[in-house]
Amino acid sequence: MNFHIMTLFPDMVREGLHTSITGRAAAKGLLSIEAVNIRDYAFNKHQSVDDYPYGGGAGMLMQAEPVYQTYQAIMEKIAYETAGDGAGCEEPEQKKVRVVYLSPQGRTFDQKMAEEFAKEEDLILLCGHYEGIDERVLEEIVTDYVSIGDYVLTGGELPAMVMVDAISRLVPGVLHNDVSAEFESFQDNLLEYPQYSRPEVWHEKKVPEVLMSGHHANIEKWRREQSVIRTAKRRPDLLWKAELTEKEKELVKEYLPEKETWKSQ
Ligand code: SAM
Repeated sequence: MNFHIMTLFPDMVREGLHTSITGRAAAKGLLSIEAVNIRDYAFNKHQSVDDYPYGGGAGMLMQAEPVYQTYQAIMEKIAYETAGDGAGCEEPEQKKVRVVYLSPQGRTFDQKMAEEFAKEEDLILLCGHYEGIDERVLEEIVTDYVSIGDYVLTGGELPAMVMVDAISRLVPGVLHNDVSAEFESFQDNLLEYPQYSRPEVWHEKKVPEVLMSGHHANIEKWRREQSVIRTAKRRPDLLWKAELTEKEKELVKEYLPEKETWKSQ
């Protein structure tokens, strides 16, 4: 999968994402993470990309043209790479590529969205800065508006890195084995069960007996129950979308925080 990140701070993105699991996956060729500097497409000698907003108001705005030129350059690169080396060929056909603008005004990013984006071959992520970006270029190039939460950050770089990280680990081969991403929090709208490693006793706390029994069916049953309980306690809002048995619905009632009541599905 190829990520193309449009940013004013390419080093921040490169350094953050070319370490650890995403860095190893990029080195192996499973991912490509390209940070493109919007400033390289500035059309004035000072390389400035921001200006005052019409109508007044605090702060500066990123101008439309450098953002548009950066986008065009990325799209040309994608088109040529899709068409092979292009030697002797006509103009390559324009591929449809999703362009995500990271914005506190977007749909809140979640695991389902990560799964959906992981199916794309190329994904363009646009990071805003200052007070944001001239609306006209957003209207022309953006296909998706994505937020990472209801708070305002100084730029879209951290949100873009969050998205790349969450999406990358769903790309086949990026994690050590396919099982690692198999059952995790948010799958089936449940949180993951508690996990334990050596030693068997730590600070007088013992690992639950069932996990050392080697009895796989019992372990699975225990884990499912723990997932349901944990979700009821920590994220009851998820439970309404989870598929629970009648027995599990009864169990949930015991663990729901006060004020929460079971809503029928
Ligand atoms: N004036 C904008 C508003 O009120 O919607 C906020 C601009 S913010 C200071 C600068 C940039 O940071 C945005 O253009 C966006 O790219 C990014 N950003 C800030 N908070 C974000 C969030 N919660 N999720 C995704 N991107 C965010």
